Amino acid sequence: MNESTSMHAKSRSRRPQDDTFIDELYDKCMALASNLWWSWTPEVERLFRDLDPVRWRELDHNPIALLSEFTPDRLFERANEMVLFSRINQAYRRLKEYMANHQTWGSTHAGVLGAKPVAYFSAEFGIHESLPIYSGGLGVLSGDHVKSASNLGVPLVAVGLFYAQGYFRQKLDRDGFQHEAYDDTKVEQLPIKPAMDREGNPVLLDIATQTGIIKIKVWKVQVGRVPLYLLDSNVAGNGPEDRQLTSRLYGGDERTRIRQELVLGIGGVKALNAIGISPGVYHLNEGHSAFAPLEVIRYRMESDGLTFEDAVREVSMQTAFTTHTPVPAGHDRFTAELVEEHLGPLREDLGLSPAALVELGQVDPSGSAELFCMTVLGLKLSRTANAVSQLHGSVSRRMWSSLWPTRLEEDVPIGHITNGVHSQTWLANQMRTLYNKHFPVDWTKRLGEPTVWDGILDVDPGELWETHNTLKARMISFIRRRLADQASRRGEDLEAVEFARSVLDPEILTIGFARRFATYKRANLLFSEMERIKSLMNDPHRPIQIVFAGKAHPKDQPGKDFIRSIASLRNDPALKNRVVFVEDYDVNLCRHLVQGVDVWLNNPRRPMEASGTSGQKVVLNGGLNLSILDGWWAEAFDGGNGFAIGNGTHHTSDKISDQRDAESLYQVLENEVAPMFYHRDIDGLPREWVRRMVHSIHTLAWRFSSDRMVMDYAEHVYLPAAGGLSCKM
Ligand SMILES: *Cc1c(COP(=O)(O)O)cnc(C)c1O
Repeated sequence: MNESTSMHAKSRSRRPQDDTFIDELYDKCMALASNLWWSWTPEVERLFRDLDPVRWRELDHNPIALLSEFTPDRLFERANEMVLFSRINQAYRRLKEYMANHQTWGSTHAGVLGAKPVAYFSAEFGIHESLPIYSGGLGVLSGDHVKSASNLGVPLVAVGLFYAQGYFRQKLDRDGFQHEAYDDTKVEQLPIKPAMDREGNPVLLDIATQTGIIKIKVWKVQVGRVPLYLLDSNVAGNGPEDRQLTSRLYGGDERTRIRQELVLGIGGVKALNAIGISPGVYHLNEGHSAFAPLEVIRYRMESDGLTFEDAVREVSMQTAFTTHTPVPAGHDRFTAELVEEHLGPLREDLGLSPAALVELGQVDPSGSAELFCMTVLGLKLSRTANAVSQLHGSVSRRMWSSLWPTRLEEDVPIGHITNGVHSQTWLANQMRTLYNKHFPVDWTKRLGEPTVWDGILDVDPGELWETHNTLKARMISFIRRRLADQASRRGEDLEAVEFARSVLDPEILTIGFARRFATYKRANLLFSEMERIKSLMNDPHRPIQIVFAGKAHPKDQPGKDFIRSIASLRNDPALKNRVVFVEDYDVNLCRHLVQGVDVWLNNPRRPMEASGTSGQKVVLNGGLNLSILDGWWAEAFDGGNGFAIGNGTHHTSDKISDQRDAESLYQVLENEVAPMFYHRDIDGLPREWVRRMVHSIHTLAWRFSSDRMVMDYAEHVYLPAAGGLSCKM
């Protein structure tokens, strides 16, 4: 009889030696809560939920906050009551095994990185809703990258910023105006610990600027096998302004921004050095961290006696840069004064003049007044650069071709690795159960392999459809609860709250649209012709309903206006029960939506969407994409694995492209989507629709998984960069 079953058999009256067991039980739960591996391991997640389902939800699914409400004794009692001992022990054992397992894809394919890992820099990481250090797509992508690197065993350490307030929580008032609330995160309820230096002391760093020193401390978060280091300027010795420097994501002005990026890039390299990690590859995920190679260059000049030019050559061999947006405002640009104020001391160490430093961030360095651009710096200091989809690759080559004036556009050295999503994070449990039945036993370890997904062809169409409908019903009840909460918080009358409790109809074709409310994403495109969409949505035989969610950046007034116009559609009796807006889009809300919708709509102005990833999450769960041929969809759509809006042509005039795309969107809805969804056989099954679901999963799930993405990075970026290094040595 093992420990847990013997405990089981006992009554609650305890003998003294049980105290050890009780403490161990608590420690095991804390160990599970302290490694974010739990967040993509359903049995562990369920374990936490079973401890107290109501508090679990109220606490934003934060297991440390939940456990801190228990004493060890109370936890023991609860675990006893719920028969959890063996589940806790088993989960703990699995975590140990996971951490100790060295037989991974990475050990076979990326062994060289073992002693010299990849250092992955990103301004945000969206790993789980309980760790609010992300705002949107970029952060979620970084989180998914780290999770896949962990699962694949690709040696990687991640570097980011600790935001004590994170991004804002969105609340709409009765008129649909967005209000932003910033909550202080409770540090003691996060799975973070101070990072230690080589001597075992907490890491404390100084970053010199011309106007004083910024002090930095460093936190460590364990994400499976990957350590994530988060830099935090809230340190005694900093002035009040600097103590808040890293408190908000994308808050403040240009000066705040460059100081945050100084902390991320320069501070990040210093932190890894202090901790004793010497990376073989530096991966700059977007321009925010592009100062990092400058600090590495300084280090190489100092320790190896290299000249600046030689150090640049060597360091850039080890550096990879990923660009994420064709939108000009997405590329940080700073004045020469701000650059000199913050990089001055480093510049002197590098032996550069102020002008020579600024030139590193300019396309045309002939003494022009051009602002210093972080993307340009990243492109100049990296061996390889990549965009995040095939189409974005060609858009980026055109966009930056003036940096390589002697080359043809197609020879501009910016390739592409298309983004993907972490399947275990986004896959609904019910779908996982279905896949478990038909896929190879080790399928979760081989997500990036096409043949693994052949199993979907064996799934019974009726079973797939039923599973989808269960998830759809679950999504609708989640939305109803959220909308009822929203209505009562705004003090709306009882009738409105009651209406929210039964809003939407599970039988109706349900479209989801959730993303950042940037204007180029055109959340209102569907409402270009009001009467047409009203009659479409209220068609007596083929009605349509749509769920919206998304935040606008606090300074984006046009984006906020879009939210207001969509939120106030509920005042129109014809749309009241057809269009809903759910507040506060985050990882949790995203998960519910991508798991439950029939159709995921994406209609950006082509080619502004670099990749987009939310539609990839929908694929895994059997939803169908309806999208402009932009970003990932331009390379994913094969005519039968979803629906396309338009034929992928560009228009120079926004007005014309908006008109054409709206027309095409209506036509696809009227002629393809709605008829196919409502065409049922005698069993009520939409056979053609389900065939499309199967084809979508079969052709897309593996290709747009972050496992495939990380394998591509390892093969095409990390290994060559690390190899370049070892050749020289
Ligand atoms: C996946 C995700 C995104 C990115 O989706 P896009 O398709 O790029 O808009 C943004 N926000 C959250 C919360 C997500 O989970």
